[in-house]
Amino acid sequence: MLLRLGLLSLLTLSPSLAAPHQGSFPGVDSPHRSSRNNKLLLISFDGFRWDYDRDVDTPHLDAMGRDGVRAAYVTPPYLTITSPTHFTLLTGRYIENHGVIHNIWFNTTTQEKKQYYMTQFVDSYWDNGSLPIWITAQRQGLKAGSLHFPGTAATYKGERVKVSQVEPRFYEHNNETDWRINIDKVIGQWFSKEDLDFVSLYFGEPDGTGHKYGPESPERQEMVQQVDRTVGYIRDTTRNHGLSDRLNIIITADHGMTTVLRNGLVDEIILSEIPGFDFRDIKFQLVDYGPTGMLLPREGMLEKVYQALKGGHPHLHVYKKEDMPGRLHYSNHPRLLPLILFADQGYVINGFFPVQFNKGEHGYDNQMMDMKPFFRAAGPDFQKNLAVGPFETVNVYPLMCHLLGIKPEVNDGSLEVTRQMLVPKKDQGSYENRDIQWEVFIGLTSVAGILALVFVVTTAHAMLKRTHMDRRSEVTHEDLNEKESDKQTSF
Ligand SMILES: [Zn+2]
Repeated sequence: MLLRLGLLSLLTLSPSLAAPHQGSFPGVDSPHRSSRNNKLLLISFDGFRWDYDRDVDTPHLDAMGRDGVRAAYVTPPYLTITSPTHFTLLTGRYIENHGVIHNIWFNTTTQEKKQYYMTQFVDSYWDNGSLPIWITAQRQGLKAGSLHFPGTAATYKGERVKVSQVEPRFYEHNNETDWRINIDKVIGQWFSKEDLDFVSLYFGEPDGTGHKYGPESPERQEMVQQVDRTVGYIRDTTRNHGLSDRLNIIITADHGMTTVLRNGLVDEIILSEIPGFDFRDIKFQLVDYGPTGMLLPREGMLEKVYQALKGGHPHLHVYKKEDMPGRLHYSNHPRLLPLILFADQGYVINGFFPVQFNKGEHGYDNQMMDMKPFFRAAGPDFQKNLAVGPFETVNVYPLMCHLLGIKPEVNDGSLEVTRQMLVPKKDQGSYENRDIQWEVFIGLTSVAGILALVFVVTTAHAMLKRTHMDRRSEVTHEDLNEKESDKQTSF
């Protein structure tokens, strides 16, 4: 009976506390709830180095900077290549934590390798523990889309980004007409008509031009002007669809670009020419891919290969994977091969003989300034005309989750790094606020529970005392209730 009374008092206290909590929690399986937060468009212009707007007129990027926030530059995760760094944008995890360790999928037993495009369709390559933001947003009642963004085609825990467009196999990544068609689709159709909350949009330039002609070439400058016109077109289209005050836009990139040194200017790195190194000691290799490489030596050969390569070329760095510098966050994943190689700025790693002819390359140490991408953001939730310092791109993910009002997955970034960019909000929509409300609810419920317990114990004590004093053998239900209510007034 005492227990029942305790429970009764808890129940009478709880509903008033629980009500605001229930009212503000959008259930995981609740229908689409887009009105709560502004929409978000994440755009990546592949290989747009942080300083590409310095030697070209970029009126539209400048205007976006005035209307929003610009970072000095951002630091991508290592390895600074397309799929791994884009998956960091989507998950907020360093590469060793999300496991998309390279643009190439490989199998060391069969020697099979899949190039960038074909890896898009290998679900297990992408889906290995970290959920991209599309899936998290969808699970929390939002609508997400993705156009050409790396990782779009894959299925994650049985779920894909619901609205998507994957480029055809031999897609011309530099076609400005196509870019505009895609922008019309994303803004006019997906955001405007289909009411999507989040879209990631990818452009394969100026990476292609930077590789082909070099980052300091007039061709690259021209491509940056094409990017700039495109930014103007995106913002005009946003305005024309009446979305300017409901759509936040983040524009960034996966990595930068640097000039490759060759033509007799430098002593090229060719592994087969390094004394003591022999490809017959290698079971599987991933070289001839810019400034980086990975090797799986045959059984018992690791030390021999390592010793041969170490000091084998003044601009080649060789690490056993467990010894990779911690700041690179590129050692703790089973997909990484036992030996990791990387070259100094301007050098590429060749296997048997030089087969790489790009004038520009990336994939270098992420501390190198030429590897840093740009970052711009504008929209209703961003400050105006604000320049901020550099930050790591792992922090873009928590920022995006905050803007969308969704609870992030475990990640390596922090909202505190970018919070200064945002207009201070009285918002009810962010998951942090809901978490605070939940904590308040738990706290109040605990207090109510304790009060109820004190009530029960005090009452019991008083009853026992009375029973003892009155020497009564029975206490009726009514009696007890009456006495309880008497007692309650003294609370
Ligand atoms: Zn590239």
